Amino acid sequence: MARFEERLPENAPGDYFVDRTCIDCDVCRQIAPTVFKQAPAARQAIVFHQPEGPDEHLRAAMAMVSCPTASIGTSARQSSGAAAAAFPEPIAEGVYYCGYTSASSYGAASYLIQRPEGNVLVDSPRAARPLLKRIAELGGVRTLVLTHRDDVADHRIFHDVFGCDRVIHEADVDDGTAPAEVTIQGESPLALAPDLTVIPVPGHTRGSVALLVRERYLFTGDHLWLSGETGRLDASRDVCWHWWAEQIRSMERLLQHRFTWVLPGHGRRYRAPSEEAMRAELVALIERMKIAR
Ligand code: SF4
Repeated sequence: MARFEERLPENAPGDYFVDRTCIDCDVCRQIAPTVFKQAPAARQAIVFHQPEGPDEHLRAAMAMVSCPTASIGTSARQSSGAAAAAFPEPIAEGVYYCGYTSASSYGAASYLIQRPEGNVLVDSPRAARPLLKRIAELGGVRTLVLTHRDDVADHRIFHDVFGCDRVIHEADVDDGTAPAEVTIQGESPLALAPDLTVIPVPGHTRGSVALLVRERYLFTGDHLWLSGETGRLDASRDVCWHWWAEQIRSMERLLQHRFTWVLPGHGRRYRAPSEEAMRAELVALIERMKIAR
């Protein structure tokens, strides 16, 4: 729980505040951008505008329940019931953002894909009781695709609660990710179902994968995201834990696939106006990655 006496001095006066335990994961700024921003001289978030009206109050409370480090607080007692029940939040047809991020994955986003053949969870959120209840109401989880070893959070709880199969590349199986029911090998795409293809994208980690859904939505883990600063697709050598040249090759292989959405673990989501526009953005990113070699 956030501590009022530890609040950052840059917070705007009022009820909501961020305390000094903030890890600058960007979750609150994505959920409630009119309330939270990065502090001018520090890599931490602050409240720059106190919420006004029911919509802004709800978004601020959704950020509060989703903060991985419980760094957001209120000086007056607030009901967070509506915010707690607002996740998973629909963001596209049959696609939901789960909120409730985990400190163990540095606030990584996870997503629920609702489908008649069985729902898919992409990476693991925090196994908060309200989220588990809402996911159960939406049909539970049949398959949990883990894009890489870092964003696995509470995968064991989701497996125990919903009986889902966990899917991960064998190169990212370790003490934190084992046991998994399905392991991916090699670099060839694997169809889990006609509408679900796992695409190995080694680079960020040796076993990173992306999940392509309905040839429209590409869930990319930490391989690819939209930069909030430049508004362009991005990947970073600074967070490439395995091999940058291999990450560039993996990015080039994505040009073989059709999609218009990028839904990452970290960074911003991106929806291109067309498959051609997405391809052009990817080509431009690959050129920038080669310069950063
Ligand atoms: S969600 Fe929490 S940890 Fe992340 S930037 Fe906001 S206050 Fe900081």
